[in-house]
Amino acid sequence: MKANKVVVLGGGVLGSQIAYQSAFSGIETVIYDINDAAIAAAQKKIDSYPDQYAHDLGATQDQLDAANSNISLTLDLASAITGADVIIEAVSENIKVKESVYQGLKPYIGENTLLLTNTSTLIPSQLIGFAPNKNRFLAMHFANLIWIHNVAEIMWAPETPQTAIDDAIDFAKQIKMIPIPIKKEVSGYVMNSIFLSMINAALLLWADDVTDPILIDKNWMVSMGVDRGPFGFLDIMGLNTAVNIEKGFLANTGNQKFQTVVDKLQAMVDAGKLGIETGEGFYTY
Ligand code: NAD
Repeated sequence: MKANKVVVLGGGVLGSQIAYQSAFSGIETVIYDINDAAIAAAQKKIDSYPDQYAHDLGATQDQLDAANSNISLTLDLASAITGADVIIEAVSENIKVKESVYQGLKPYIGENTLLLTNTSTLIPSQLIGFAPNKNRFLAMHFANLIWIHNVAEIMWAPETPQTAIDDAIDFAKQIKMIPIPIKKEVSGYVMNSIFLSMINAALLLWADDVTDPILIDKNWMVSMGVDRGPFGFLDIMGLNTAVNIEKGFLANTGNQKFQTVVDKLQAMVDAGKLGIETGEGFYTY
């Protein structure tokens, strides 16, 4: 499959990146969002990408001009999705919002249009019932800073036909992603399943006061030959986000050790130590 028109629903952090990557890959791309403020915020993000593509990828001015001419933003859903080969849903991570967005597509979506969700935490089986074209619905999960972390995790419900999976893989390649098909639904896909396991192991060691976070990181970094450890990643993620994630693990597992993790993280958040964004977390910046 080759996409000639892509629509991204929601021009937030990830939606704006996905849209720019699609436009940069030579595809007519439209961002749909809900109000003027959201469109203005998306436009601001779009305006920041050319410099980053030039710096990180060595993109030429001609390539950037072409990308800019391929992208547009709109509040008009009907005109946006008319003739779209691929729709990528990147609206807020809330199942009710996603349900109402999918219902809104019903009158306009083409029979063959691929509908891809960028959800981070839901699995396709939780959403497919809302999709207007169930045979063409999959999850395609992108990483933040899509142009350098160019992986597309592709996951589908058991009833999804192989043709839709093949088309999603083709589309991922078309926008210069490395497709990672995931044969069985798993919350967190591959990347977050591994990443959050590592983060949790480190946080539980910290909660048990086994040793200092900086030494846990040092141990991991030197042993594995990598330049960042779990607490370094936590500072990038932001400790307010980390508190919410760990509250989820506490609720889902009932393991009271996560309560200690939550309390210790919350104390840092309350002290204004959110990580890189506030200049201090586990490290100072
Ligand atoms: P965000 O809050 O930055 O952006 C959400 C966008 O959706 C906003 O522009 C908002 O105006 C828009 N929106 C809300 N309701 C809408 C509606 N009814 N119709 C159209 N647009 C609507 O969120 P984000 O971080 O970009 O996350 C979006 C999706 O991508 C989520 O499902 C999230 O799990 C996933 N995701 C996020 C990241 C990340 O690092 N932020 C990474 C991978 C996947």
